[in-house]
Amino acid sequence: MKQFLLTGVFALLAIVGYAWPVYIHLNTGETQDVLVAGKTYQIKLHKVSYTREPNNRKPASIGAQTFKEAQVVLSVNGATVTLLQRPYEMPVVFKGLRLYVENTREWVKKAGKFQAIEYFPKEAKIAICQEGKPWGPEDMHFPLLKYRWRSSMYNNTWGSLVPGRSVYYHHGEDYGLMYDKFDIQAPLGGVVTTSPFPNGDGQSNGLIVACADDFSYRISHMNTGSIKAIAAKGLTVRGGQVLAQSGRTFQGAEKMGNPHLHMNFIYKGEAVSTYPFIVEAYLRDYPDNVLAVAGGYVTMMAGEEVELDAIRTVVRDGYKIAEYAWELPDGKIIKKAKTKVRFDKPGNYTVALHVKTDKGDEDRDFLKVYVFNPQKENNDYLGVFYHFPVRDIKAGDEVNIWRTSGFKIPVTIDFGDDSAPVRAKVKTPHTYKKPGIYTVTFTSVTPSERPTTEKIKIVVEK
Ligand SMILES: [Zn+2]
Repeated sequence: MKQFLLTGVFALLAIVGYAWPVYIHLNTGETQDVLVAGKTYQIKLHKVSYTREPNNRKPASIGAQTFKEAQVVLSVNGATVTLLQRPYEMPVVFKGLRLYVENTREWVKKAGKFQAIEYFPKEAKIAICQEGKPWGPEDMHFPLLKYRWRSSMYNNTWGSLVPGRSVYYHHGEDYGLMYDKFDIQAPLGGVVTTSPFPNGDGQSNGLIVACADDFSYRISHMNTGSIKAIAAKGLTVRGGQVLAQSGRTFQGAEKMGNPHLHMNFIYKGEAVSTYPFIVEAYLRDYPDNVLAVAGGYVTMMAGEEVELDAIRTVVRDGYKIAEYAWELPDGKIIKKAKTKVRFDKPGNYTVALHVKTDKGDEDRDFLKVYVFNPQKENNDYLGVFYHFPVRDIKAGDEVNIWRTSGFKIPVTIDFGDDSAPVRAKVKTPHTYKKPGIYTVTFTSVTPSERPTTEKIKIVVEK
């Protein structure tokens, strides 16, 4: 009976007829005939090259290099295009297709033991779908309710270097959030195959849901005690159903220094990039017309230049970016999408990106710039910062800013309005008097030789 019910659900989902991206593995010089939405395209891989960046951060030794970007030269029916593999890259439209680099061989080899990709037979893996079509199911939801894009300083994405103790590249999305505040909804309907309900799994409380077409998703860091009975193993959940709250559970303990939700996808037995699916799901679920993308993290040696590149900023169809502005740590503003900036002194810097659309929408994002010296000295870490609520804040509402993790350095908060800066507590309340997007800046009260600054945005709506 149970078997019959499961089969029935899969049959029903199959009728919906999701169009998934086509995933192909290619060697350099190899051409494949690829069928996309009923049409055959000749796809050839010409070349893969890599750009690395110096990364003296512990525990990598002095002189360690990590991946910043891969350039992948492809042709479609004889016409050539260069695609980039880098964090926060979206599919590129070319010759009637949307093309996306899932991964490249050297990058996969260095992925690290954690979240390793075991099956990678060729030089590059490319994902393809038809131009004008969504990336996967049109009814996929963003996993968090009442969330805001980049509202905390803790974010990881597909392929990005995780700025933690070990060197590894992230295979999924991480959304920073203050714990016990945000509901997780099922991105798609399906059958729960692994569940931490009711007592937790002693690890990171991962829930796996198997959907139609051999697709499954895993969501972890669910809070034990908040996991709903509907998310028990063997049950069927609907897309959009609330499953649990997030942000507390790591390695069996109810405590995370960097509270976040993690999500990753498996399609036909292989890990696939979450990023394009989830960006599109976010735009369906939330009214935001522009999502500023500063690029996450960069690492470099003192005295070098870094390229600031805002062209990954996501804008809803029908909108255009009217202005890009980079605000450097010294307050200087550069109104260009791309520019180069030199950092002479080691430190942990934050560069702010402000974007505006032609219809007046605005957003901000922050690029973390870790500038190292050859002595392998760590920068001071101030902690991880969050706020709540992150959506529907009105002038006069109290917003709470949290500083989590065990860092003990005294920190000053500048709220980005006319108010006087204050010393950060674990929870610091603040009230904004007017609508707007505010940049909240966290600095060390007693700066060391190596300056350190963190920033988050708070949006107060009209
Ligand atoms: Zn993660």
